Amino acid sequence: MKVTEHIKNANGKTLFSFEIIPPKKGKSIQDLYDNIDPLMEFNPPFIDVTTSREEYIYIEKQGLLDRKITRMRPGTVGICAAIKHKYDVDTVPHVLCGGFSKEETEYLLVDCHYLGINNVMALRGDAMSHQKYFEACDGGHQYASQLVSQIQNLNCGTYLHDVVEVDDTSNFCIGVAGYPEKHIEAPSLQTDLMRLKEKVDAGADYVVTQMFFDNKKYFEFVDAAKKAGIHVPIIPGIKPIAIKKHLQLLPQVFKIDLPQDLITNIEQCETNKQVRQVGIEWAIQQSKELQAAGVPVLHYYSMGKSDNVKAIAEAVF
Ligand code: FAD
Repeated sequence: MKVTEHIKNANGKTLFSFEIIPPKKGKSIQDLYDNIDPLMEFNPPFIDVTTSREEYIYIEKQGLLDRKITRMRPGTVGICAAIKHKYDVDTVPHVLCGGFSKEETEYLLVDCHYLGINNVMALRGDAMSHQKYFEACDGGHQYASQLVSQIQNLNCGTYLHDVVEVDDTSNFCIGVAGYPEKHIEAPSLQTDLMRLKEKVDAGADYVVTQMFFDNKKYFEFVDAAKKAGIHVPIIPGIKPIAIKKHLQLLPQVFKIDLPQDLITNIEQCETNKQVRQVGIEWAIQQSKELQAAGVPVLHYYSMGKSDNVKAIAEAVF
């Protein structure tokens, strides 16, 4: 079922969902299952699976360094199919512009369609670690809005190059990213909202936000989005802080602010176990306020370990 249908069927009740990252190449999928298992009692209607950008590795060969490209956490679509099959739950693969040609994206979408996966999150992806700015690969998209258009075209039976007789079109529900504190590269929040509207106009059905720690930022963003003519569901993304280093890491990587109260509480912690507890309590407060405001879904960034998300879900759902 589509994410938007789940929201509609919930009749105003806030749903629970979460995002997982594929295991590192060579690692078992069992660890992922062990972290999903405890969350299934909260009936997530859908689970997101991220896609990692490719990266360069250097292999020494006879005194010379050979540069190879690799993806350290492959398998997004396979994991989506495996989880869908194992738990009978909808899954949402993250589909990236970065590192994929339009043709490769078309094949990936065809795979999803055959597997009965009918939700996708359309994202640009970040720059590769050695790049300052994002660069589309040869024959790839530069912006997520172009990827949304490609998916939407496929939904209308229009493939990239082939004129084919179509009697079984895909019907993907398309999610896109939104940034309550603006995307790092956007010159202003207003411009970023205009770009978000372009994604919705191209066919996006819902938005999932970047993490935020001050609900006011989310509420203002939703208001501004409505004023900009964006009328699709905007799902808040919640990340429980887990380690002290997040105080520097999250603002640096995601360009977000942390509220002073949260910073003070974390700074007072002597161990990361205490920090994890502060993160849980903050996320519970955030979640309860958002739930009371009637958000359609509370979407948690689990980053692989689910004990904190379970503690939050127990308090909220
Ligand atoms: P876009 O919507 O293309 O926007 C990127 C920037 O370009 C913005 O600053 C925007 O304002 C600007 N822009 C857009 N269109 C135009 C235009 N026509 N002209 C000029 N400027 C324009 N990354 C991963 O690698 N894997 C994941 O699985 C993943 N999952 C994510 C899930 C969520 C919910 C979120 C919020 C982010 C996720 N990301 C993921 C990170 C995301 O890929 C980055 O934030 C990326 O830098 C931007 O992606 P986007 O889809 O928002 O890009």
